[in-house]
This record gives sequence, structure tokens and C-alpha cells, in this order.
Amino acid sequence: MAVVTERACENCAVVDDELVLVRRVYVTPEAWDREASYQVVDEVELWCISCLSQYPHELVDITSAEE
Ligand SMILES: [Zn+2]
Repeated sequence: MAVVTERACENCAVVDDELVLVRRVYVTPEAWDREASYQVVDEVELWCISCLSQYPHELVDITSAEE
């Protein structure tokens, strides 16, 4: 029986029940010619646990976002 409510990770497209709302973070490590940077994108994405462990991100607080 197909489940129509299946959702896929917006980063790797794997279908998973445990998806988490996050904002992607672009981290640039410090180098000799530049300072380290930490950029959080505005767009919210649904990520799977695997992506959470592999890529920098910030968790989205749903309760505060609804205020
Ligand atoms: Zn993923």
C-alpha cells in the first residue's frame, strides 16, 4: 500500500519518516587570506538524520517561528 504522506529529504532526496526542519549553514574555515565565516540561509529545509550528521546546519525552532 502506497503511503501518500511520504516525505523526502530536501538535501539528498531520501524518503524518511524522521525529517527535521533546518536552515543550511555555509561554513568557511579560516585561511591565511581570510577570516572564517558562518552564513545561515533564510530558507528552511527538511533534512534526514544522515544529512544532519554530515552537513552544517541550524535547527529551526518551530514554536518560535509561529509567533
Ligand atoms: Zn538527507
